Formats: sequence, structure tokens, C-alpha cells
Amino acid sequence: MITLQRGRENKDVIVFKEDRVPGIKNVRPLVCNATNRKTLKKLFKQVTADTLAGQRIQLYIDHKVRDPQTGELTDGIRIRDRKPAEKKAEPIICEECGKQISAIGQYSADDIAKINMQRFGRKLCGECSKKLAEKPAEETSQEVTENA
Ligand SMILES: [Zn+2]
Repeated sequence: MITLQRGRENKDVIVFKEDRVPGIKNVRPLVCNATNRKTLKKLFKQVTADTLAGQRIQLYIDHKVRDPQTGELTDGIRIRDRKPAEKKAEPIICEECGKQISAIGQYSADDIAKINMQRFGRKLCGECSKKLAEKPAEETSQEVTENA
């Protein structure tokens, strides 16, 4: 149920996984109008929640959309009639153990590799960076004990 200029109506909306994207602070649901529904049908054959859940689409602004209220040209959000290219991330390999670096919590594999590059000068997985971070502390404490 959404509120439009002419009142509250039941409308199909497309809800996005992203909270924010470059250029848009708050991503809001998009009302699925006839034009966008047609594009979705072309892309995914069916326009049901089951078919569309988890799919990736690309939006753009069409500056020549006829406003049904006024008949004038206005901006409209449109769905691109081709699927966006899959962004395949290259696996990042840990320089210590040779395993693929995986994401941890909010950090992507790329983030972790970068952080460890700064900390240790090498691309390391979470496990190896943890081991390395603990190691110098032990050595230091041992030296202190030997000297004392
Ligand atoms: Zn490792």
C-alpha cells in the first residue's frame, strides 16, 4: 500500500537490497509501472516475486517520460532492458598459507587484503594476519623474560 498524489493505492513495488548506492542516499522501493513491468517480463520471462527475488537489474533515468497527469515530459526511472554484467571478483590468495582470502563480517576479501597489506606488507587471510599479530607480542615477552 503506497501513498500517491491521488491517494493510497495497492501497487506492486520492487524492493532493493542496497540501502544506498552512489548518487542515492536512501534507496527506496520503486513502483513497478507498466513500462518497467514489460522490461522485467522481457528480462526474466515472468514478473512474479519468486522469479524476481535476488535478480540484478540496472536502472536509468529516462528524461522523456510522458506524465499521465499533465501529459508533459518528465523524468522517469526505467529498468535497462539487458541484465547487468556479472561482476566476478578475482580470488585473492593469502601470501602466507596460499588459501583464498574470504570476507569477514563487513569486510570484503579485498578490504582484508588491503588492510593486511598496510599492516604486514603482504596480502594475508584473516587467520594468518591474526597469527602474525599475536606472534611479535609473544617474542617480545620472551625476550624480556630472558633478559631479566
Ligand atoms: Zn592465510
